[in-house]
Amino acid sequence: MRVILDLGRCNAYGNCVIEAPDVFDIDDASGLAIVLDENPPEERRAKVLAAARLCPVLAITVED
Ligand code: SF4
Repeated sequence: MRVILDLGRCNAYGNCVIEAPDVFDIDDASGLAIVLDENPPEERRAKVLAAARLCPVLAITVED
């Protein structure tokens, strides 16, 4: 699984951090999301997919 974040879309809502805090965080300097783990383990899949689904601007893509 590979997590791709489109920072051009991110609007700092923070839903991704709430859903998967071990994969996403908010950068203190920019206020935008950062990916902590671009290749999270399979057991994180449900949380990562939830984060992608709940991002209001669809900034998160998950590839297999
Ligand atoms: S949920 Fe989407 S818009 Fe909000 S911080 Fe995460 S990536 Fe950015």
